[in-house]
Amino acid sequence: MPPAPSTSSPKPAVFLDRDDTILNTTPRTALTAAPGDLIDPALVEVLPGAAAAIARLQAAGFTVVVISNQGSVARGLASLAQVELINDTFRKLLRPLPPLPVYYCPFHPKHPGNAFGFPHSWQKPGPGMFFAAAADLDLDLAASYTVGDKVRDLAAGIAAGLRPDRCFLLATTGEHPRLAANPAALPGSVQLCADLPAAADLIVQHSSNM
Ligand SMILES: [Mg+2]
Repeated sequence: MPPAPSTSSPKPAVFLDRDDTILNTTPRTALTAAPGDLIDPALVEVLPGAAAAIARLQAAGFTVVVISNQGSVARGLASLAQVELINDTFRKLLRPLPPLPVYYCPFHPKHPGNAFGFPHSWQKPGPGMFFAAAADLDLDLAASYTVGDKVRDLAAGIAAGLRPDRCFLLATTGEHPRLAANPAALPGSVQLCADLPAAADLIVQHSSNM
């Protein structure tokens, strides 16, 4: 007998980058080989207001999903187990929120010779992680939003079918001020925003007006 057709409709999501969107990596850059590399779970720190912002998005009906490049694996700086440990650590720090689904890309094309050193559709700005999450979690990409601190975070969402005006670039790292001075470098009508709490406010406000 064929499986019964799903009676649920795809759900809107908010896709969040991890490093410098949910987690503060800025004080860690002196300790790690590259900005954003979080390898020691003792150094995991949730940015102010991020947990409340995620709770606000969930209360508004969004499935919140974490989408993260972790090229440190391909660079030989971290193992998959270390990345998983960081992910488990920040999900515990976000309690009592239920554990967030996390998709991460350990691949990076510039490190041939490493088992993960090749191009992969999951690596942002590619859309692969968005497609995988949408298939796994029954998500409506056209009704979804994304938030990140790098243009590649937003480019990945746009490549997956998100509307550019539903993509938010945060001021938590250097790309926001540079691009604010040169808006032509931004893809489409991407929105600039201070931090995740500010983006969550705009997303909830925008979606309630739909
Ligand atoms: Mg980031």
